[in-house]
Amino acid sequence: MKFYSTNNKNSRVSFREAAMKGLPNDNGLYMPQYIPDCKNLIKGIEKLSIQDISFIISKKFMIEDFSSSEIEEIIDSSITFSAPAIKLGVNFILELFHGPTLAFKDFGASFMARTFEKIVENNNKSLNILVATSGDTGSAVANGFYKVDGINVIILYPSNKVSKIQEQQISTLDENIFSLEVDGTFDDCQKLVKQAFLNAKINSTISLSSANSINISRLIPQTFYYFYAYSQLAQDSSVIFSVPSGNFGNLTAGVFSKFMGLPVRKFVASTNANDTVPRYMETGVYSPKPSVETISNAMDVGNPSNINRILDIYNYDINLIKNDIFSCSFSDEKTKDKILKILKNYEYVIDPHSAVGLLGLEKFHNLNNCKNPSICLSTAHPSKFSDIIEPLIKSNVDMPDRLKDLMSKEKRSIKINNDFDEFSDYLLSNFK
Ligand SMILES: *Cc1c(COP(=O)(O)O)cnc(C)c1O
Repeated sequence: MKFYSTNNKNSRVSFREAAMKGLPNDNGLYMPQYIPDCKNLIKGIEKLSIQDISFIISKKFMIEDFSSSEIEEIIDSSITFSAPAIKLGVNFILELFHGPTLAFKDFGASFMARTFEKIVENNNKSLNILVATSGDTGSAVANGFYKVDGINVIILYPSNKVSKIQEQQISTLDENIFSLEVDGTFDDCQKLVKQAFLNAKINSTISLSSANSINISRLIPQTFYYFYAYSQLAQDSSVIFSVPSGNFGNLTAGVFSKFMGLPVRKFVASTNANDTVPRYMETGVYSPKPSVETISNAMDVGNPSNINRILDIYNYDINLIKNDIFSCSFSDEKTKDKILKILKNYEYVIDPHSAVGLLGLEKFHNLNNCKNPSICLSTAHPSKFSDIIEPLIKSNVDMPDRLKDLMSKEKRSIKINNDFDEFSDYLLSNFK
């Protein structure tokens, strides 16, 4: 399997190269040359573990680059937690927050870290990973790569725009993890990272890679849990997935899964007030806006990168996209209401991102009369957003023990301005 750039289908690279580079030189996004057929997985899928599913899918994408036993090792060391589907009324919730940093990004980040570990081990070459984060990416990537030999991780996060817990997870690690607190928004952080990748001097001096949801090695493992979710539901019907969306990596992995053969009736792509994609679906005009702050801050993205992958898969045909994806946007007020209603009706505390997903599912069902089993991806544990939830529900959210220790650790991040020269100097004087 080779990977092409969304800006040039003729430029093909191996999985290793696509993973290491993160972004093609032409500023497109890597895409698999074809979406592999995994229909064979569906019959009897309920007998498979999430690791079995992960292995079968990974082999389809990676077998030209790694041996079967290497792929097995990557999965055994990264997919070490589950994704249970629980019932909430008529719908299901897929709890994707049982990993080390309590968010779905642990799947992609830990799989990517173990993949990179294998690549670096064979190449004997050190690597510097740049990550722009609106919160959860940074913590998951930092945790996934912590103490992995031969790899440094440099994380940029927007000052005062991530939760206390997220900041602790990003900024308290030492050794090979470096964090920069940027005076700006997530989009500014993302722009700095993009500029670094396109800068000739930096690229000739420092060996760079990315770990955002734009990296193909993070996207592939996100397909695992769509199949695993399906395996936990009734199997005689296609299903509806609601995906709380920001940079649209999670949704893209869902679309991959559908093209791989997973029976999906519809995706609901729910956003917060950052409604670039819902507006695009309504008007047919793609007009990104600066991001605005919301209580679901990991989805505060004004210009979602992965939209180009979705356009590519659907041949830029908005009608095909609309057949598969329904997209809608919700305010913070509606999100808070939903959190309270879920608590009242089911004694279940849901985080703000997942609440946006549930709102989308509800809206879809109000507009369409269909009985397909429906599942909302729950992307974070509520205790990660206790600063929003606790005042709202007027009680404490239980924090898993592994988070408690973290809160007393010392912050080590360096403050920088939203200025490329300053960022460039920092990189050139600290890394090679
Ligand atoms: C990153 C994140 C999202 C959005 O995922 P995308 O792949 O960027 O669309 C949703 N919820 C949480 C908790 C996140 O961390």
